[in-house]
Amino acid sequence: MCERPPRPRLGGVHSSLARNGLLMLLRRVAMGRVKISAVRARMKPLVLLALGVSAVFMIASRASAREDADLEVLQIRPNFYMIAGAGGNIGVQIGVDGVVVIDAGSAGHADGVVAAIKRITSQPIRYIIDTSADADHVGGNETIAKAGQTLFTQGGGVGIGADFLGGGASILAAEKVLARMSAPTGQTQRFPAAALPTEAFIQPRKYMYLNGEGIEVLHQPAAHTDGDAIAFFRRSDVIVAGDVLDTTRFPVIDVAAGGSVQGEIDALRKLVELAIPSVPIVSREEGTLIIPGHGHICDQLDVVEYRDMITIVRDRIRDLIKQGLTLEQIKATSPTRGYTRRYGAESGPWTTNDFVEAVYRSLSQKAQ
Ligand SMILES: [Zn+2]
Repeated sequence: MCERPPRPRLGGVHSSLARNGLLMLLRRVAMGRVKISAVRARMKPLVLLALGVSAVFMIASRASAREDADLEVLQIRPNFYMIAGAGGNIGVQIGVDGVVVIDAGSAGHADGVVAAIKRITSQPIRYIIDTSADADHVGGNETIAKAGQTLFTQGGGVGIGADFLGGGASILAAEKVLARMSAPTGQTQRFPAAALPTEAFIQPRKYMYLNGEGIEVLHQPAAHTDGDAIAFFRRSDVIVAGDVLDTTRFPVIDVAAGGSVQGEIDALRKLVELAIPSVPIVSREEGTLIIPGHGHICDQLDVVEYRDMITIVRDRIRDLIKQGLTLEQIKATSPTRGYTRRYGAESGPWTTNDFVEAVYRSLSQKAQ
């Protein structure tokens, strides 16, 4: 059986040329195959200058901050970084207003993340945006917020006041994230009060304007969970997708936490709609960058492929349900065939069977 998924074309204009450039290099860095110096050699002069400045700063400040050897810091735009290795991927936007951090990683790496941000910039951390309530994305909330400083300290009566959080950075998330993080499981609350979002939003589109660019935080109501948000940085042209996009495996559709396969596909469609590939001049290696919850940096075509893969598996399972097959019978037909080797797992926290079961359950729920 052929395990290579068919490669969908994007209007026939996306050549392999575009895929061999900087993006691929960034991916190989993320996978530990290429040193960051190789990326610097390929970046444009302006970026190179910024990298040079940050490199000098890194050397100057290295002695003062403890390094976390698991972390990898990549500069993907002049004012935008990605930190990998702290649980979920972290986005870092910097500018005159301070630092906006998208996802906080796991608790165990939070000190390392703070140190890494301090090596990038001396600006205070102002905001954390959570893309879901998962521990590998919000576990660092408390430490990173406390290391920061709210925008609302200086009198003026803006918001709820700095004392509420001890003056730390604000934490923004969909209201469902706050509800999930503060819901007690058994005897103890899952997260301390200082880790909870300070700004919970219920609207589909929450926006801010910080560091000279519009930031859209778009709630995806039923994808990986019911609290997913994707954060679009309009001038940087970077989207932080959270776990609706996970290049390391089939997407985790947490049906018990309000996730669904249709919502997952809808969220991926939204990413495809927001992103613009490098067309018509594909050799320029430009276009919107999409940071997934886990795995390598993506362009629009990567998201198209991922969306199509899930759509195909969804269609197969839906047809089998219509034919009256049970979950066990459906599993036996390998509905993920063609993608199992690339995204599947036999063991661990999210197996191929878990994915098939989640798709089955979310389709069966809908049918009821
Ligand atoms: Zn995750």
